[in-house]
Amino acid sequence: MSVKENLHIIQDQIAKAAEWSERASTEVELVAVSKVQPEGRVREALEAGQRVFGENRVQEAKERWVGSGWRTEYPDLKLHLIGPLQTNKAGDAVALFDVIQTLDREKLARALCKEMDKQGRKLPCFIQVNTGEEPQKAGILPHELDDFYAFCTQECALDVIGLMCIPPVDEPSALHFAFLRKLAKSIGVAGLSMGMSDDFAQGVALGASHIRVGSAIFGARD
Ligand SMILES: *Cc1c(COP(=O)(O)O)cnc(C)c1O
Repeated sequence: MSVKENLHIIQDQIAKAAEWSERASTEVELVAVSKVQPEGRVREALEAGQRVFGENRVQEAKERWVGSGWRTEYPDLKLHLIGPLQTNKAGDAVALFDVIQTLDREKLARALCKEMDKQGRKLPCFIQVNTGEEPQKAGILPHELDDFYAFCTQECALDVIGLMCIPPVDEPSALHFAFLRKLAKSIGVAGLSMGMSDDFAQGVALGASHIRVGSAIFGARD
C-alpha cells in the first residue's frame, strides 16, 4: 500500500469513529509519526497533503525537517515532539517544534519556559501522564497531575492545552483513554493526545483531539 492509500484508509476510519461517537472528524488531528521512516515515505505523505508530523528525537527531527529544506518548503507544517525531552535540548526543541507533547517534570517545565521567553515562541504543550504507573515509562503519575498542572501554568506560564498518554501494552487502551479523559476534565483542559496505529479508533471514540499514527501510515519501522 502506498502512503497515500494508507492515509485515506485511516482518514475514513477516523471519520467513522467520529460519526459513531457523535463527534466531528474535524475535531481530530492526525499526527503522522515519521520517526525513523525513510525519507521517500515521508515525502509521499507531504505530497498527499499531510502537514502534521510527530518525531521523538530532537536531533533526528532537525536533520529531517530543517536539513531537507522541508521546513521552509512547507510553511504550514506542524511538528509535534512526542518523545522524551532532555532539558539540555530544550532550546533546540523550542526552535524546531510547534507543539510539545511530552511535558513530564518540573525541571523540564522550567527549561521550556525559559527558552520560550528567550526565543519569543510560546508553544502549546501536553502533559504526559503515566496512566499505567509503569516504572520505566515517562510521564507524571495521575495523583501528581493537579500540582504539576498548577506548576506549569502558574509558575512557568506554559500554555498547557491537554494531556497525552501511552497505555501499557498488555492492557486495553480504552481503559486508559477513558481515564485520561477524566483527568483532563478534572483540571479543565480540552486536548487529549491518545491513540496510535493499533488503537486510534478507540482514541477517537473516547474523545481524542490528537492521534499519533506511525506504522499504519508509513509501514513498520526498522
Ligand atoms: C512511535 C510512537 C507512536 C507511533 O506508533 P505506531 O504504533 O507506529 O503508530 C505514537 N506515539 C509515540 C509516543 C511514539 O513514540
